[in-house]
Amino acid sequence: MSKFAEPMSRLIDELKKLPGVGTKSAQRLAFHILRSSDEDAEALAVAVRDVKANLRLCSVCNNITDVDPCTYCTSATRNQRLVCVVEEPTNIAAIEKTKHFNGVYHVLHGSISPLHGIGPEQLRIANLISRVDSGNVDEVIIATNPTVEGEATATYLSQQLKRPGMKVTRIAMGIPVGSDIEYTDEITMLKAMEGRREL
Ligand SMILES: [Zn+2]
Repeated sequence: MSKFAEPMSRLIDELKKLPGVGTKSAQRLAFHILRSSDEDAEALAVAVRDVKANLRLCSVCNNITDVDPCTYCTSATRNQRLVCVVEEPTNIAAIEKTKHFNGVYHVLHGSISPLHGIGPEQLRIANLISRVDSGNVDEVIIATNPTVEGEATATYLSQQLKRPGMKVTRIAMGIPVGSDIEYTDEITMLKAMEGRREL
């Protein structure tokens, strides 16, 4: 028999499914929710439901959005011919922080990792190829992470994306190898973007 009432152990079990949340943290969070006001608990439940009900992937760039195409892809002030490829939607924030990138994005939702059985077909590459084939792109900047997987992805993409008259570049490695661009400070990120090289 569980040491908690059934609704409590159910909440703890659900919280434990979150990344980085172990049994202890899940119990602490569950008790925090139990002690919080009805309004706060309801707001949390509604926010969780809404994120699933109202968010989807942009059909152009695969970014998470509540309008399709997303605000980047429809922006008249951004250079729609300059496409920066990232692994995850959270990486966009790292590049936006530099305030020096005025192009648009393409989110792969992962990287090539043979060890984990992830090949190019598991990533969102097909709609990147069609963007490039539409002739509406001057440069693709590959900003995958400086990891073995990110490098493998960059190499694969550079082979797949080469088109006459279009540049494929890779961000410079001021970023420590093995790290995640999500945790890169804006100066390093800016240098990495400025120092990009053609692939
Ligand atoms: Zn988009």
